[in-house]
Amino acid sequence: MDLGGKVAVVTGASRGIGRAVAETLAGLGANVVVNYVGNAEAAEETAALVRGLGVQALVIQADVADQEQVNNMMQQVLQEFGRIDILVNNAGITRDNLLPRMREQDWDAVMNTNLKGAYHCAKAALRPMLKAHWGRIINISSVVALSGNPGQSNYAAAKAGLIGFTKSLAKEFGSRNITVNAVVPGYIATDMTADLSGENKAQLLSSVPLGRLGAPEDVAKAVAFLASDWAGYITGHVIVVDGGMAM
Ligand code: NAP
Repeated sequence: MDLGGKVAVVTGASRGIGRAVAETLAGLGANVVVNYVGNAEAAEETAALVRGLGVQALVIQADVADQEQVNNMMQQVLQEFGRIDILVNNAGITRDNLLPRMREQDWDAVMNTNLKGAYHCAKAALRPMLKAHWGRIINISSVVALSGNPGQSNYAAAKAGLIGFTKSLAKEFGSRNITVNAVVPGYIATDMTADLSGENKAQLLSSVPLGRLGAPEDVAKAVAFLASDWAGYITGHVIVVDGGMAM
C-alpha cells in the first residue's frame, strides 16, 4: 500500500485511535493534518511522530461540531497542500447516562461531535475531492451502533447514524470515484475506555474471542487499507474491528 503524495485530514488525531491513524497513514507516505479541539500539546506530539516518518504534518485546532471552524480548517489545508484526498472522521466523545438522567446538553454534545461533525467535515472536504475525481472518506463508528449499550443511547444513536450517513454518501459519490466506508471498533484501549473498572474489563474480555482489548493500531490498519488503492472497489462497507466481540 502506498499513500505517497496524498493528503489526509484526521479529526481528533491528538490521541488514541486518531493518533494511530495519523501515524499509520504517514508511514504509508501521506502528509497528515492533525486536528484536535483542546489538547494542543498532544496534537504537537502526534505531529512530531508524523514528521519523524519523513512526511509533513499540519496541526489545526478546530471543533468539528462547528461548521465555520471546519470550513476554516479545510481552507487552511487547501492553502498549505492544495488538496484533500483522505478524510477520517474520527473525533468523538461520550457523555454516558441512563436516558431518564441524560441531560439534553449531553445528548446534543454527543450528536454534534460524533454525527454532525462528520457532516461538517465531509461537506467541506468533498469539494476538492469532487474536483480531483478521487477521494476516500472513512467514518469511525462503534460496535455499540450495532449492539446498543445501556447508558449510551446518545452515543449509539450517533454512531448508528454514521453508518446510514456512510452508505448514503457512498451512493451519492461513487460515480465520482469517491469511496465512503465506516470502521466499527470494539473496545479499544484509549483514554475513552481508561475508566473501565477491572471487573468491567474482565467481563468485556470474556466476550472477545481474540481475548484482548483492541489497540489503536488495530483500527488504524483497517482505516489505512480503506484509504489505499487496495480498497478501490470497496464502498458503503462497514468493517468491524472488535476481536470478534459483536458476532
Ligand atoms: P479519545 O482517546 O478520547 O480521543 C478523542 C479525540 O477526539 C481527541 O483527539 C480529541 O481531541 C478529539 N475530539 C473530541 N471532540 C472533538 C471536537 N469537537 N472536535 C475535534 N476533535 C475532537 O478517543 P478514542 O478512543 O481514540 O476514539 C476515537 C474514535 O473512535 C471516536 O469517534 C470514538 O467514538 C471511536 N470509538 C472508540 C472506541 C474505544 O473503545 N476507544 C470504540 C469504538 C469507537 P483533544 O485531544 O483535543 O481533546
